[in-house]
Amino acid sequence: MARRVTTSARSAPPPGAAFTWRPWLSLVSYVRPYRGHLALGLALLLVNIGMDVLKPWPLKWIFDGVLLDRPVQIPIAGPWLAHRTDMAVLGFACAMIFTTAIVAGLCEYGAHVLFATAGHRAVTAVRRDLFAHMQRLSLDFHKASKSGELLTRLVKDVTEVRNALTDTALETVGEVLLLVGMLVLLWTIDPGLAVYSGLIFPPLVYCVWHYATGIQQATRRQRDKESKTASIFSESLAAISVVQMFSREQQTTARFDRESQKSVQADLVATRLKGRMNRWVEVIVAAGTCLVLFHGTRGVLNGSLTPGDLIVFSTYLRAMYKPVRRIAANILQASRATVGAARVVDILDTQPLIVDRPGARRAPRFAGRVTFDGVAFGYGQGSDVLHDLTFDVPAGAVAAIIGQSGAGKSTLASMIPRLYDPRRGRICIDGHDIRDYTVDSLREQVSIVAQEAVLFGMSIRDNIAYGSADASDERIERAARDAGAHEFIARMPRGYDTVVGERGATLSGGERQRLAVARAFCREAPLLILDEPTTGLDADAEAHLLASMRRLMVGKTCFVIAHKLSTIASADLILRVADGTISHIGTHRDLVAHDAGYRHLLALEASTGATA
Ligand code: ADP
Repeated sequence: MARRVTTSARSAPPPGAAFTWRPWLSLVSYVRPYRGHLALGLALLLVNIGMDVLKPWPLKWIFDGVLLDRPVQIPIAGPWLAHRTDMAVLGFACAMIFTTAIVAGLCEYGAHVLFATAGHRAVTAVRRDLFAHMQRLSLDFHKASKSGELLTRLVKDVTEVRNALTDTALETVGEVLLLVGMLVLLWTIDPGLAVYSGLIFPPLVYCVWHYATGIQQATRRQRDKESKTASIFSESLAAISVVQMFSREQQTTARFDRESQKSVQADLVATRLKGRMNRWVEVIVAAGTCLVLFHGTRGVLNGSLTPGDLIVFSTYLRAMYKPVRRIAANILQASRATVGAARVVDILDTQPLIVDRPGARRAPRFAGRVTFDGVAFGYGQGSDVLHDLTFDVPAGAVAAIIGQSGAGKSTLASMIPRLYDPRRGRICIDGHDIRDYTVDSLREQVSIVAQEAVLFGMSIRDNIAYGSADASDERIERAARDAGAHEFIARMPRGYDTVVGERGATLSGGERQRLAVARAFCREAPLLILDEPTTGLDADAEAHLLASMRRLMVGKTCFVIAHKLSTIASADLILRVADGTISHIGTHRDLVAHDAGYRHLLALEASTGATA
């Protein structure tokens, strides 16, 4: 069963857990195609680490073999140093230092490029899927979510995941391998000292775990506040004319600022915790260094170690504690990224409610008879807003849906293209349940002209062809002429190539609506839903639009949601919706004769002078 729509993160790590694999496991499939990159990157990383591990040995050869003239083993020198002169050993040691640095640098570069390529590509795929998935999620989900919040997930959280995959993961794997390599070598030099240097690990692990938990919680708080800030931003800019009309700029900025401050506070908590953790890491590392130097120097004094051994040892120790610090920092980074990954997976795990049934087939071209058979519907977990709707609209008929605001007219109409599915009952087109057809093939055959035309920031041509992928230029222009839009488009400097502002902001309300009608003409769908498209237009624009809508309705089954009864008197069928049920159904003449409520509405309209 599809999960209840919620914007909270279901797969978020539970409080108290510093790091959880669950969200990452869900993202593994995105990394799988880049196995080759990762394997090669890992191989180069191993060579790089091998070089790092070798680095201090030439120092020992110089110190013990050249300066103190003691016998030293140079295992890889072979025959070149058969006659070891001091200069030969010195030259060889310098050559080794140089070679290891070059090989290490090249391998590190290669590994970095390979890991970054894999990480970026994988995360681009995550972002694409996340966006595609968001678009498939039901309207319920989108109505419950804020666009700014979703944007934060798409941009910020995905970026955190990418950083974790490209930098943190690579670095941590490298550092852990380096650490293990160094511990093994320390063991070969002096097992006792190796144990002393390993004593710091239990307190270090405890310290990192302790702080990572708090940091993760602060990060989640910070991210939530940041999402809130983003949603205030997008909401206010989307409604900028209302903000300015009501002079709400200062209050909106103050609201924005309050949420930003909360985000900053949460971020500062995380930063303070990180600072505290670093302090403790330094203290523990310093204690470990003292312990090892103390025992190492005693070893040199009593002859169980050479000074060169102690140099190699202390170089390793310094080099070893560096990865320890970095691993600690990376664990913090990983636990922050886990918050991002959980927020991404949370969306990916949300199931779209409207999906193709198993065995759904492509719909044939509809004749257009629409039947509601005992349909009941309610939003989310709420109670039913439509109850037991039963009616039949013949193919090619015009059905007007009337009723008071909030009666359920738009909800009823939006169920025909399956924007919502009935809780009970079924909707049939030409006698077949619409859920037996694939969602795409059903929606292809339904056009909607809504109260507010939704246009995109692209050319007028593309806006008209939106929803008719294969439309030719001729078809687009014919649609525009039929919709009465060609004249004003032709007057524009770039005609059909004019790019309209975001959401059609550069056009008047009437022009926007005529483009919406043109879009419906272009689609050539047999079913048409007109949801009060003349709302808010002046009389002239309304008259133009009504004329083009009449042309559009010819030969189609139409559902017209109307606020003016005078505009629908000629409808073949009038459905009067009251409190989520069809209270009366019939022609204008039937309703005048039998429906007192309809007569009352007509009288009301006449008295307020609202005539078409
Ligand atoms: P009408 O089109 O007749 O004005 P609607 O179909 O828009 O009415 O709404 C019918 C009822 O459903 C109203 O009570 C409204 O508040 C409720 N409603 C509409 N959309 C939603 C939604 N997304 N979530 C919850 N309730 C909703």
